Amino acid sequence: MPPYIGQIMLLILIAAVGIWLYRKKRSAGMFKEAQDLSFLLNDVAGNTEAKAMLHDMISFIKNPGKYADAGARMPRGILFYGPPGTGKTLMAKAIAGEAGVPFYACSGSDFMQTYVGVGASRIRELFKTAKKAEKAVIFIDEIDAIGKKRGRTPGASHDERDQTLNALLAEMSGFHERDGVVVIAATNRLDTLDDALTRPGRFDRLIEISLPDVNARERILALHSADKPLDESVDLKALAKSTVSFSGAMLENLLNEAAIFAANENDGTKILISQTHIDKAFFTVIAGAEKTDTSFITAEDRKITAFHEAAHALVTRLLLPDSYISKVTIIPSTRGAGGFSLSIPKDTLYMTKEKLLANMKVLLAGRIGEELIFGDKKITTGASNDIEKVSTQMVNFITSYGMDEDFGIFNMNVLANSGLGTGDSEAKLVSLCQDRLKQLYCETKDLLAENLVSLRKIADELLNRESLNQDDIEGILG
Ligand code: ADP
Ligand code: ZN
Repeated sequence: MPPYIGQIMLLILIAAVGIWLYRKKRSAGMFKEAQDLSFLLNDVAGNTEAKAMLHDMISFIKNPGKYADAGARMPRGILFYGPPGTGKTLMAKAIAGEAGVPFYACSGSDFMQTYVGVGASRIRELFKTAKKAEKAVIFIDEIDAIGKKRGRTPGASHDERDQTLNALLAEMSGFHERDGVVVIAATNRLDTLDDALTRPGRFDRLIEISLPDVNARERILALHSADKPLDESVDLKALAKSTVSFSGAMLENLLNEAAIFAANENDGTKILISQTHIDKAFFTVIAGAEKTDTSFITAEDRKITAFHEAAHALVTRLLLPDSYISKVTIIPSTRGAGGFSLSIPKDTLYMTKEKLLANMKVLLAGRIGEELIFGDKKITTGASNDIEKVSTQMVNFITSYGMDEDFGIFNMNVLANSGLGTGDSEAKLVSLCQDRLKQLYCETKDLLAENLVSLRKIADELLNRESLNQDDIEGILG
C-alpha cells in the first residue's frame, strides 16, 4: 500500500464528517422559532371574517384537553388562500401570538430537494421540533410546492414530492388529541392543490384571505405609517380610496418607498413625508407589481362589477327577504370572479317552488344589472358562473322536482338509465329550459327596472365602499 493512500482516506473522512455536520446544522437551523411573540390579531388589519373563524383554534391550542374532553375533533390544519401579500403569514403569526406558543415558519420550497427523501426527513424533523414544544403553530408557506395535484407532468422530482407530501400527511394524522400543535399552510393557488391535502383530519379548514377593502386599507395604512413622519398634506382616507386592489404588502411598500423618497430629498431639516412623495412612490409600486395583478382593473370594469353585484343583492333583498346577505363586494376574488355576493338562506328542510324560482332570478340578476345600465352590447363574461348555476337549477326544477306545469311530473334520467333516451327528447328539454329561463329573465328585468333607483344607490355605495353587508344595504334602501 503506497503511503499516501492513508492520507487520502483521512482527508475523505474529514470531508465527509464536515459535510454531515454542515447539513445537520442547516436543517436544525431551518426551523428556528420566531422569538417575537408580541404579534397579535389586532396587528392584522381587515379580514374580519377570517379572524372570526380563528378564535376557537386559538382557544384549542391553549387548552386542547377541553376539546378532547368534549369529544370534539378539532381541525389540525388550516389552509389560508388568497392573493400574495394579503397577510397570510401575519395572521398565522398572530395566532401563535394570541395563544402564546412558539411559531415555526418554513416554506414548501424548503422541502423540495433534488435528493429523494431529504424533504420527507425535513418534515419529520420539523414536527419533532414542534412536538417537543408541546404547543406550537407550524406555518408552511407556498404549500403548493409540496402539495400540487398529482399525475400528468412526468419527471424525476415526482417521487420526492410524493414522499414529502406523504410525510406531511402522516405527521398530521399522528397528532395526539391533547397536543396543542396546529399546522397552518398558505397558498396563492388553491386550484392547483392535491385534494389529499384538504380531506378531513388534514387541512380541513379553508379560510380565504382576500384583498383589503377601503376600510381595511385605511387601517393598514394607519398601522404602517404609525412610525413615519407624515406631513398634513397626506390624507390616509383619500389614499385608501385611491389604492383599489392594493394588497397589504403593496400598501406597506408604498409608504416605505415614500419614506425613502423623503429621506433622499432631505437636506438636513426635519424629515416629513408629503403627498408628493406618496404620488411618486405610487408609480414605483404599481410598476413593480406583477402584470397579473388586479391593480390594473379599470374604472369601467369596476362599475360593471358594481352593477352586477348590486343587482344580485337587490333581487335577493326583494325576493328572498329571509336570506341574510353576509357580503357583497367588488373586490376581485382569487377564484377569478370580479366580485361576489354571498347570501345565507334561512335554514329550511325543503325548498319551495317559490324560493327556487326566486333563487334563479337572483342568479340571473347580475347579467341583467349589466344590461340595464350599459346596454346589451356591453354585457360581460362575468356572468358565466351564474349561468352555469342557473342552468343546473332549471334542469333540476323541471326534471327532478317535477315543478314545471307543462312538462309535468317526469324524471328524464329514467330514460337515459334505461337506454330509451333520444337526442330528440334532450333537444326538447333544452328548448324548454331556454324558454323558461328567458321568461324568468324578463320578469327579473322588469323587477329591476322598477327598482332602478335602489339599484343605482347600492352600486354607488359599492363603488364607494367596495364591500357591503346586510345592515349597509338595509341602510341604503331605508
Ligand atoms: P402573505 O403571507 O399573504 O403573502 P404577508 O403576511 O407576508 O403576506 O404580508 C406581507 C407584509 O404586508 C406584511 O409584513 C405587512 O407589512 C403587510 N400586510 C399585508 N397584509 C396586511 C394586513 N392585513 N395588515 C397589516 N399589514 C399587512
Ligand atoms: Zn354574478
